[in-house]
Amino acid sequence: MTSKPGLNHVNIFWITSIHIVALASIFYFSWTNLIVCLVGVFLLAPLGINVGYHRLLCHRAFVADTWLRNSLAVLGVLLGAGPPMHWVAMHRMHHRYSDTDKDPHNSNLGFWYSHILHLFRKDEQEASGNYLERYAPDLAADPFMVKLNRYWIWLAFATLPALYFVGGLGLVLWGGFLRLMFTWHIMWFVNSASHMWGYRNYPTRDKTVNCWWVGILAAGEGWHNNHHAIPNCAAHGHKWWEFDISFQFIRLFEFFGWVRDVKRPPTSSQFVDAEAAFLQS
Ligand SMILES: [Zn+2]
Ligand SMILES: [Zn+2]
Repeated sequence: MTSKPGLNHVNIFWITSIHIVALASIFYFSWTNLIVCLVGVFLLAPLGINVGYHRLLCHRAFVADTWLRNSLAVLGVLLGAGPPMHWVAMHRMHHRYSDTDKDPHNSNLGFWYSHILHLFRKDEQEASGNYLERYAPDLAADPFMVKLNRYWIWLAFATLPALYFVGGLGLVLWGGFLRLMFTWHIMWFVNSASHMWGYRNYPTRDKTVNCWWVGILAAGEGWHNNHHAIPNCAAHGHKWWEFDISFQFIRLFEFFGWVRDVKRPPTSSQFVDAEAAFLQS
């Protein structure tokens, strides 16, 4: 008999606490603190989370030199995206079961559920055991990723004394807590808003859409219907107006020769073929 998954008290405690502490940032405003926060949210998070965790580790949309792959994974940990193997396993589960009962953040259960509330309950598949080996066997076979998955919490916490040492309590609040809160909500909007409000380029079986404001805020991740249609494509913007900063980072790395085998977006004729393939499937 399988027991019903309960509340995830660890997540409830941390997510709530970080939101409450982040509010104290308003008493410590400085231009330096603001700039550090913005750099974290709009420059480092797209690198660590979008390029590293999502497009490289999860979808293998390009091949990267080992030093770059490992650095991006460490950056994702430092930015508070959690252990990479867990992130990848959950996200692959999301793609496999998108908008069904088995989707970890099923958008049919409403905006707040897919945005944040799913994190407050223990996931059924996660509770059932070997989900990491099942959904992330490639990472489970990589000793560096296994180590990162084991010790991630120490690395993530190490950012706080480092920020304090550089800029005192104000920088801890702006560069640590507030930055993390914004990063999380932007990442979560991809799961919530980009499954609800926008237009569709591809007739996928899920409810994914391209949501323009998430496209901008999340550095390209908001073109989510495109992404669900062709998950291993390194570019999430497939039309000229779908600007995708994260893909520009990948192109830059390619220019330097640090990445290769970059999966490109379809050309307009391939775009029509892809659309037709979906309609026939
Ligand atoms: Zn999705
Ligand atoms: Zn994805």
